[in-house]
Amino acid sequence: MDEASNLLQFDKSALVEWLGRAGHKACRARQVMHWVHQRGVADFEAMTDLARPLRAWLHDHACVQALPVLAEQRSRDGTVKWLFDVGAGNAVESVFIPEASRNTLCVSSQAGCAMACSFCSTGAQGFNRNLSSAEIIAQLWWAEFTMRAALGLPDGERAISNVVMMGMGEPLQNYGALVPALRLMLDDDAYGLSRRRVTVSTSGVVPMIDRLAQDCPVALAVSLHAPDDALRDQLVPLNRKYPLAELLGACERYLAHAPRDFITFEYCMLDGVNDTPGHARSLIELMRGRFPWKCNLIPFNPFPGSGLRRSSPQRVAQFAAMLADAGIVATVRKTRGDDIDAACGQLAGEVLDRTSRRGARVVPIAAAGAAPSALPGHSA
Ligand code: SAH
Ligand code: SF4
Repeated sequence: MDEASNLLQFDKSALVEWLGRAGHKACRARQVMHWVHQRGVADFEAMTDLARPLRAWLHDHACVQALPVLAEQRSRDGTVKWLFDVGAGNAVESVFIPEASRNTLCVSSQAGCAMACSFCSTGAQGFNRNLSSAEIIAQLWWAEFTMRAALGLPDGERAISNVVMMGMGEPLQNYGALVPALRLMLDDDAYGLSRRRVTVSTSGVVPMIDRLAQDCPVALAVSLHAPDDALRDQLVPLNRKYPLAELLGACERYLAHAPRDFITFEYCMLDGVNDTPGHARSLIELMRGRFPWKCNLIPFNPFPGSGLRRSSPQRVAQFAAMLADAGIVATVRKTRGDDIDAACGQLAGEVLDRTSRRGARVVPIAAAGAAPSALPGHSA
């Protein structure tokens, strides 16, 4: 028998094709998707509206393979964080962030990241590998059905209303796996989220912003962090390849396809580096006469060895006020899950000990003696 195919990898067209190759009708794809993505069922025997022969065939050829959970932590404020094992000593994180009007899941796209932004501990960790579509969706699948049970939601009521691709990794550097996962998030036969409620955050991979506009235009957040090329070159090295003029051009083109009529800029507030009134003025000047934008100011979450400090609350407030005076909506991201280190840029104080001969295990960060892997950001 061939190796069983993980159904979490297939968006609808791929599932139709895969089932079709074995002679199954296209309409079966929707039924299977309902069971897997809307009811969280992984056991084909329980899929009672499928004919017995199809159930038996699925049993032999398919599986619903979630990611092993290395750790789950629950914060006093309701934030829940999972650390998932993705093999070979690599782990990724997802964070569930409950709020009054929405419940957001922050999802990872890569184990590590090659972009090497100076304020990001995932960047400090380096790139390990891309996640597959199945591994991206497995984070949502696990979180959705775990939280439905944990919150005691009635049948059919969804736990997660929003997804932000703001976990570990640069989603637009893993484009081939990202798009099928986004399609499943949007599909009414799967998670049924509206395009406005799914956000891709990018450090600025210009050609892929243009492709996303064509292939799957969800809400876009751009990690700006600096108002000029000289400073952005330092903070976000990718800027040397795609400087601000090109990045802003791509944002403007994206708006023609976007589900929202503005672009969100994320701006990580670094004490004395990018947070002065002069920087605020330059940012306002940079954007004058361009396109509608909003600014999400993220107080920097320090990590060992970064050499950077968080801006004071006064500085953040002053920066936000200057943007507001210029007519720009500026929000300050609340830090959530502080007691479990689930805030942007932090991991649980745990890393996988790659040196362990007994295989992967979770160890305290101090004992591991390594840079923490990290969850860079998630919106609140
Ligand atoms: N790679 C993508 C998405 C993941 S990072 C990107 O860079 O946009 C998600 C957000 O968290 C980004 O805006 C990133 O700049 C921010 N971030 C990274 N490290 C951080 C830290 N230590 N403190 C605060 N925000 C951080
Ligand atoms: Fe990668 Fe985003 Fe971190 Fe930069 S901020 S290193 S792009 S995860």
